[in-house]
Amino acid sequence: RTDDKKTPILSSVKSVAVVGGGVSGLAAAYKLKSQGVSVTLFEADERAGGKLKSVSRDGLIWDEGANTMTEREAEVTNLLDILGIREKRQFLQILLEPLRWRPPENKSNSRVSDKNLTERFGSIILGAICSKFSQRKDNNKERKISSAERKKRRGSFSFYGGMQTLTDSLCNELGDNLKLNSKVLSLSYNHDGNMLLDNWSVSYATNRKEYSPKSSFDAVIMTAPLCNVKEMKIKKMGLPFDLGFLPEVNYVPLSVIITTFKKENVKKPLAGFGVLVPSKEQQNGLKTLGTLFSSMMFPERAPSDVYLYTTFVGGSRDRSLAKASVDELKHVVTSDLRKLIGAEGEPALFNCFYWSKAFPLYGRNYNSVLEATKEMEGSLPGFFYAGNHRSGLSVGKAIASGCKAADLVMSYLNSSEICSDLVD
Ligand code: FAD
Repeated sequence: RTDDKKTPILSSVKSVAVVGGGVSGLAAAYKLKSQGVSVTLFEADERAGGKLKSVSRDGLIWDEGANTMTEREAEVTNLLDILGIREKRQFLQILLEPLRWRPPENKSNSRVSDKNLTERFGSIILGAICSKFSQRKDNNKERKISSAERKKRRGSFSFYGGMQTLTDSLCNELGDNLKLNSKVLSLSYNHDGNMLLDNWSVSYATNRKEYSPKSSFDAVIMTAPLCNVKEMKIKKMGLPFDLGFLPEVNYVPLSVIITTFKKENVKKPLAGFGVLVPSKEQQNGLKTLGTLFSSMMFPERAPSDVYLYTTFVGGSRDRSLAKASVDELKHVVTSDLRKLIGAEGEPALFNCFYWSKAFPLYGRNYNSVLEATKEMEGSLPGFFYAGNHRSGLSVGKAIASGCKAADLVMSYLNSSEICSDLVD
């Protein structure tokens, strides 16, 4: 081999393992596959998508994870274009109309605060995490696009069919490269001095059995939450690689409750897309964190005679309530909706989904997380860490993180190829 050292295109097929099939892992795997890499994505669950989870039932569509996203990161724009799903975006109805907030007549405005939620929180109304979703100011790149498109990119959107439309498109593209029900248990890095690549082996468990390492990989992108990485066994050159330096991450538990009410049974249907319940309202008996008016955000997600609501319970405000019994959750949610919007009687539909670890709650320990992930990458050649634990909680940031890891892997494979040329 002689003069191919500068070319960015890999001269032989390389293989990469991606661990975790949330939106970050799917985006990373898709990017690598489209650049000719042989990629295997291991997902522990029976479905991919992670925190993007949409349900379609009885003429209703709802999301049990992320409800909306934005397109501020260039990686998101690229992904939507390449997947050809830009036309499937569904913008918040509310953005097309001015937000008309009418405070409850008899109470002060502070009872429930809207505080221009669209702008401040982008999409979600969980006080505990809202600051994490707030976006950076527009950057110069935005100047080049039309003002209409710029407005859209600032806006929050979902997809027809819900947020999972995005991850389903990625899964379709990945086909057999995606291994569901495949929980990664251990990773092993070996390097015999001659071989510069092909150094990683992965062992994983399926529902039926545990597989010992079979295939070898040139690099690994890890997108599983840090609490799951901590459970994995990693070996380097035959010796255990101690992950004790990974910090304990504090997680926020959350229940997402879906309800529907006949329109005639909702006496004060507020305009707007949701309510955030400030913590001080607990003393007035309100126990939920907030509610999205899902059928006002996206009217065609429910029959025209019903309202569809998405209520959040628990969070850092009341951890134990997040995993309360279904009966208790039903009581809490119907009681709050009665007070907030005058929803009378029992909901026609009641559905709850519990996330035991909805979000990593970073305070001062964020730096230690960053340092630990850098240490992992520095000590383990060909190992890259991506996802919401590293680069921010929003869907857009998770996608950007996955895409950036894919780029780093491509550079690593290229440079390893150059080294191996030198050895030859
Ligand atoms: P995840 O989606 O957590 O994916 C990680 C994957 O790794 C999972 O599928 C898991 O099963 C897998 N895994 C774990 N261990 C292993 C193993 N050993 N082997 C193989 N696989 C493994 N963001 C917004 O921008 N807007 C919103 O409106 C919004 N709302 C939200 C509402 C809720 C209720 C929640 C929970 C999150 C919300 N978010 C929102 C945040 C956003 O959805 C997430 O931060 C983002 O989707 C995370 O993507 P990820 O790929 O980094 O991680």
